[in-house]
Amino acid sequence: MEVLQLDVSGRPQAWISAKEAAVLYACDGVAWTLGDACMVLRGGVQHHAGVQRRTGLQSRIEVHPIIAVRGSVPSRAWRQVPALSNHKLFVRDRHVCAYCGNQCPPDELTREHIQPTSRGGLDSWMNCITACRGCNGHKANRTPEEARMSLLYLPYVPSLHEDMILRGRRILADQMEFLLASVPRSSRLHG
Ligand SMILES: [Zn+2]
Repeated sequence: MEVLQLDVSGRPQAWISAKEAAVLYACDGVAWTLGDACMVLRGGVQHHAGVQRRTGLQSRIEVHPIIAVRGSVPSRAWRQVPALSNHKLFVRDRHVCAYCGNQCPPDELTREHIQPTSRGGLDSWMNCITACRGCNGHKANRTPEEARMSLLYLPYVPSLHEDMILRGRRILADQMEFLLASVPRSSRLHG
């Protein structure tokens, strides 16, 4: 499992491992938590919550799914546009080709530049869309107008909360609820 790390004001910072979270607990770096404890760490050995619950032994750390860490807030990270990757692009677009509408597995999808990069198009969230290999090959080095291929949906830049969902691997219900609460209604992730 991964733990969602927030800054003390509640803004998402990163996904970290349970062990990294344990270090923060151990050095009193956790300001507050959300959700029920989902794992107990003890003596370097992991026990899932509910298993081997003995008291009065060793120190034990209950890890929560969401933790806010103490310390100052780096404001630059908040304004940054999330980095673009194929994995995140495909999740944003729900693995649906923007031209034919087919939903495909990731290995059949491509990062399609709406305005081709060879003609000045940027490698950015707003100029990239998910397309299947067939549609990408057919469109080739043309604009959608030239290729007479219209977009079934539009690109957008994910918010920071949305980006954390795109980056997450196995997101727990508490974490998803927290992140989705701050994702704009217009996002496809609500679909
Ligand atoms: Zn297609």
